[in-house]
Amino acid sequence: MPTIAASLAAIRSTLPVGVELVAVSKFHPSEAVAEAYAAGQRAFGESRVQELLTKAAALPADIRWHFIGHLQTNKVRQLVGSGVVSLIESVDSERLLRLIDAESERAGVVSRVLVQAHVAAEETKFGFLPDELLGFFASGGYRSLRATHICGLMGMASNTDDEGRVVADFAALASLKDAIVAAAPDLRGFDTLSMGMSHDYPLAIAAGANLVRVGTAIFGDRDY
Ligand SMILES: *Cc1c(COP(=O)(O)O)cnc(C)c1O
Repeated sequence: MPTIAASLAAIRSTLPVGVELVAVSKFHPSEAVAEAYAAGQRAFGESRVQELLTKAAALPADIRWHFIGHLQTNKVRQLVGSGVVSLIESVDSERLLRLIDAESERAGVVSRVLVQAHVAAEETKFGFLPDELLGFFASGGYRSLRATHICGLMGMASNTDDEGRVVADFAALASLKDAIVAAAPDLRGFDTLSMGMSHDYPLAIAAGANLVRVGTAIFGDRDY
């Protein structure tokens, strides 16, 4: 197993200018995050609220924490109110979006979020259906948000060895982002396309991703 620093360097050397790397540190200890931090990494992804808050309290304040897991409604106040999360990538329903907005206003913060779209074959993956998302933006539903900035789209490809399917999923996400921008001409700053994980991020970048979320290829296997 190469060191975390060596793995980070190897991945970074493959990233085109303008593609941001989020190091997915979920289920790995704070020491592993500190090692990546020492190697210059500043953006980290976590999938559980308590784990993110515990690590944020123990680690340097200039880390940009991304929340990438399914966010339960009963955890929104805690996450948003903490003020430590830089980007909530996994907003998977309008109900969750409205709740984040209400809690952000209450806490006096502006939350930056991505909307998560579901295009993958698996039924278990969370996210808006593409038509649902297009409908939301075409009807101007985002205009009533008071304390939330939607910065773009997040998604995952199907979990399959069929590269054609993975390529098609990433293409579908990229064209959904373009369709949203076209449907909502007054939408500002909808720039981020977050897609690609350890095994498929080069395909995601080829399809237009400008943010990739890589865990295993940096930190090794997770102990769940
Ligand atoms: C765990 C996770 C990743 C990272 O997956 P790896 O295969 O370890 O790179 C990326 N995105 C999301 C949403 C995840 O939950």
